[in-house]
Amino acid sequence: MMYAYLDNAATTPVAPEVAEAMMEVYRTVHGNPSSSHAPGRKAKALVETSRRDLAKRLGCTPRCLCFTSGGTEADNHAIQAAVGSLGVRRLVTSAAEHSAVIKASEFAGEQANVEVVHVKHHATGDVDLEDLARILAEGSAKTLVSLMHANNELGVMIDLKEVGALCRQYGALFHSDTVQTMGHYPLDLNDVDIDFLTCSAHKFHGPKGIGFLYINPELRVHGMIVGGGQERALRGGTENVAGIVGLAKAMELAFEHMASHAAHVRRLKAKLAEGLRGLLPGVSFNGCSDREDRLYTVLNVKFPPHPNSGLAVFLLDLEGVACSGGSACSSGATMGSHVLRALGYHDPACASVRFSFSRYTTDADIDHALDSVAKIFAPVSAEV
Ligand code: PLP
Repeated sequence: MMYAYLDNAATTPVAPEVAEAMMEVYRTVHGNPSSSHAPGRKAKALVETSRRDLAKRLGCTPRCLCFTSGGTEADNHAIQAAVGSLGVRRLVTSAAEHSAVIKASEFAGEQANVEVVHVKHHATGDVDLEDLARILAEGSAKTLVSLMHANNELGVMIDLKEVGALCRQYGALFHSDTVQTMGHYPLDLNDVDIDFLTCSAHKFHGPKGIGFLYINPELRVHGMIVGGGQERALRGGTENVAGIVGLAKAMELAFEHMASHAAHVRRLKAKLAEGLRGLLPGVSFNGCSDREDRLYTVLNVKFPPHPNSGLAVFLLDLEGVACSGGSACSSGATMGSHVLRALGYHDPACASVRFSFSRYTTDADIDHALDSVAKIFAPVSAEV
């Protein structure tokens, strides 16, 4: 049976070249990077070469990158470091952020008595930058702004340069969760005023369980996980050597073929949007996710009212299409979408489904998704 994987914002398949690079590490490198003997030095060299490669691509110095277990840890670390090490007393973020940022902010609010302020969004889903400027102009508390580069459900984006400049103007620190854009968009850190950004390898065909936090080298922060002093005491624990090598390989492939991958994905996304418009008059796109200036890997579709609405993701899976109806909790159950609710897109009569694409998505996947949608959302006859 044909199965189309259209849930790449949740995770992407590991590139064969990445798997091969990691297998080579598993086969040939067994040392602990903290050991001073030859096998340890070999492992350490791989970690540091990978860090250097990543830093070169992003235009920063290697010491700015602290390897983590992925995006969630990096988001938590940025917020904890801002509050615990840099004296931040106010967090300005959004109700549409990833739960890693929302929960870490709430936690800081409860544990450290930090004020948490949510910026408004326009009806299009875009962050209201005038509201952000107004918030920043108010009050004198040391502030961290945490706003994601691209929303993982709607694809709405911010301009990192613009928000970075605004934060600088008001003396605020700036963190951006770049989990959905890293490896998909060019990024030159010489060009952007940013203090923290987060990366997760499994969103661009790298392995799960590895990522990094970029920390502006002018800032002095403490580690969140203390232990053996690894990562310059920013993150204790024996390094995930194969994961780090896989991350660097995934970034290399992503950066070297970025333009052609993006063109391929944009074409397929437009094909799905066009096909859905043709199939279902009344279909619309939450957060204007069909627009060119949205994250090109994500299309968030609001289907017209239909008796199958409540079961759309389940029925699509049965037809052989993987997609998402909101963030999945650890048990795998769909919790609904806090993002759709926060931005006023939630509508119990209509299914909202996120389709997300990667360089491995094919025309056949899109055709299969359209055929499946046509079956599930076929007009229901008035007669029973
Ligand atoms: N931030 C965003 C925007 C994401 O989409 C995700 C993954 O779903 C994360 C953070 C968490 O990343 P990880 O799965 O590496 O912990």
